Amino acid sequence: MLEVNNSSSSQETEIKHTKVLILGSGPAGLTAALYAARAELAPILLTGIDLGGQVALTYTIENYPGFPEGVGGAQLGELFQKQAERFGARIMFDNANSVDLSKRPFKVAADNGIYNADALIIATGASPNHLQVPGENEFTGRGVSYCATCDGAFFKDKQVNVIGGGDSALEEGLFLTRYASSVTIIHRRDSLRAGAVLQKRAFEHPKIKFVWNTVVTDVIGNGKTEAVKVRNVDTNEVSTLPTEGLFIFIGHTPNTQMFEGQLKMENGYIVVDKCMRTSVAGVFAAGEAADPHFRQVITSAGMGAAAAMEATHFLQEG
Ligand code: NAP
Repeated sequence: MLEVNNSSSSQETEIKHTKVLILGSGPAGLTAALYAARAELAPILLTGIDLGGQVALTYTIENYPGFPEGVGGAQLGELFQKQAERFGARIMFDNANSVDLSKRPFKVAADNGIYNADALIIATGASPNHLQVPGENEFTGRGVSYCATCDGAFFKDKQVNVIGGGDSALEEGLFLTRYASSVTIIHRRDSLRAGAVLQKRAFEHPKIKFVWNTVVTDVIGNGKTEAVKVRNVDTNEVSTLPTEGLFIFIGHTPNTQMFEGQLKMENGYIVVDKCMRTSVAGVFAAGEAADPHFRQVITSAGMGAAAAMEATHFLQEG
């Protein structure tokens, strides 16, 4: 878990001015903080509620270069943070609620005060999508989960279902085999979106089985999850699969709502050019908030570095 500075919590109305303000503490935000700090801009980074972003909830990252044996997601986040702080980045445990990008300095209202920034880097990431079926919300935290690393240990020797056919579903499904007696991956098509390495591992794993062409229509239980109702999309046959755990990995939605109407967006993602510039001069975006395509730790970190370098140029010229 990231270590954060929450000293501003007692100064509710304080207005802080900073040359560079970074929103978000995932790989994009922390890498932007490192680069802006090394440019001696003493950036302030607001962590947001989800400390460390999605990577902090990932058990092992095996495709971030430099770690041939893999590295824990939370551990990687801590290393990013340490490196940024070593050069003077200020990491604040605070959550931005609204922004005014109509003039400089840009104004960001957060839980613990107001921040004025000459340049802003948005790295607010994305949040997991919900199935939006009856019972899902009711049983969230009572069998329904969006994070195997967080909740997997509660399902020791139990049967669990995983929904989705992407990298997340397979990676998290494989992680769940550490605890669960068996893992059933339910996918709405008959082929997976996940990469070849994960597919091979999942197909070969003795605890994992697949249910194809099937969608979940209801989560059923009494106080806790007991079963899911599913429908075969080819035959329309409906059946009930008993399960105590339902892990949902069906993609993400970018956390960009507070910028709507102020920045150019497409399908909820902030539009950036190759220099991470948004439609407002002085505002940059990096990571999943601006990337519907790659969404990897390495690409998010790269975008964060580029955004900070461009913010530095912008401030030098401005
Ligand atoms: P994703 O690639 O968008 O996959 C989402 C999966 O959920 C798809 O299989 C999709 O089905 C299914 N789905 C979507 N909506 C659904 C619904 N309403 N009901 C049932 N199924 C639904 O998302 P992700 O797996 O979270 O991955 C996100 C990004 O992170 C990707 O770029 C991925 O490569 C990356 N990632 C990488 C790693 C890694 O490299 N180790 C690990 C995790 C994530 P369809 O296939 O039919 O569309």
